[in-house]
Amino acid sequence: MFEDLVASLRSVWETEKDVGLHEPIFIGNEEKYVGEAIRSTYVSSVGPFVDRFEEDIASYTGAKKAVAVVNGTAALHISLLLAGVRENDEVLLPSLTFAATANAVMYCGAIPHFVDSEYETLGIDPINLRQYLDEISDQEGGVTINKKTKRRISVILPVHVFGNPCKIDQILEIAKDFKLEVVEDAAESLGSTYRGQHTGTFGLLGAISFNGNKIVTTGGGGAILTNEEELGQMAKHLTTTAKVPHRWEYVHDQLGYNYRMPNINAALGCAQLEQLESYLVFKRELFGKYKNALNGQKGVRLMQEGNSAKSNYWLQALVFDQKINKDDLLNLFHESGLGCRPAWKPLHKLPYLADSPKSSMLNTELLVDRVINLPSMQIN
Ligand SMILES: *Cc1c(COP(=O)(O)O)cnc(C)c1O
Repeated sequence: MFEDLVASLRSVWETEKDVGLHEPIFIGNEEKYVGEAIRSTYVSSVGPFVDRFEEDIASYTGAKKAVAVVNGTAALHISLLLAGVRENDEVLLPSLTFAATANAVMYCGAIPHFVDSEYETLGIDPINLRQYLDEISDQEGGVTINKKTKRRISVILPVHVFGNPCKIDQILEIAKDFKLEVVEDAAESLGSTYRGQHTGTFGLLGAISFNGNKIVTTGGGGAILTNEEELGQMAKHLTTTAKVPHRWEYVHDQLGYNYRMPNINAALGCAQLEQLESYLVFKRELFGKYKNALNGQKGVRLMQEGNSAKSNYWLQALVFDQKINKDDLLNLFHESGLGCRPAWKPLHKLPYLADSPKSSMLNTELLVDRVINLPSMQIN
């Protein structure tokens, strides 16, 4: 029964070759800039490409400040610390995300607390979230407490899944009502906006990833976004081992992290960013082609941006109306040369996270048996 569907989606790719899920392409100034970095000997943690990359990211996203770091997970870790996450706090996040979202919470000594996702955006379901917080939380002296565990809940950490913006405006309202901060996991959503504003700039802080499989890559890398000048300075300080600037003295005024992005990686990133607009055009066109190919197919839709959102369409996703036999479908896709993949195993099912507090996971558990990612890479 999947044969038609697979054949139809395969016909989108006008090539006999296998098409993987995602691979970077380097057809711009990548070699030129990386060569410049090498010849300058500034390959490590300071250099002009780092400064330029941070300025380019800030101006592209509209964030007041962008701090380049070693990867998206480190960006999340520092963002959570700066949002005030402390040991034994609980942080609310979806279960339908990459493990790094929860790992960053645990690096702070805090506890991931999973909330349900929704069909429409694949992000946190705001209606369920509000009901759930009404049910389980109490205000005690301006602090939000989980009635059951007696721990402080300090932050909501929404994710823009596959680049598709979640309902961030409603999540911000909930955060305000419950006195919580918002940190956005915008790792996958460079180029995605909500009501014209770039994802990752709504919360107090936001984290982007430039891993090799993301829309723009620096090899490995990430960025912290914030509109608070002071938080931006703190982010830079904490990610540069909290070293007080001095020409020869080594004074570190607190526990810091060596999370700086090397100049050689930033060089790659500068060249990639120059091409972001063309990547976005390609991905939107690919969305249109897949959508046409699905025309007439029953029981399945293509993930699509909402009315107020603009998605970067980083990773295209099929969403089925019912549970499917994933192995059968993935076998067919792979036989036809399409490197499709199921959604992540939900984090609350992973052994090291299985004891984490959680809301009902009704939608999440339905979604994991219904979501398949399609090849979304540019080939040239
Ligand atoms: C990629 C990713 C991260 C982590 O980024 P790295 O650069 O790989 O550390 C975090 N969250 C999500 C949702 C991601 O997709």
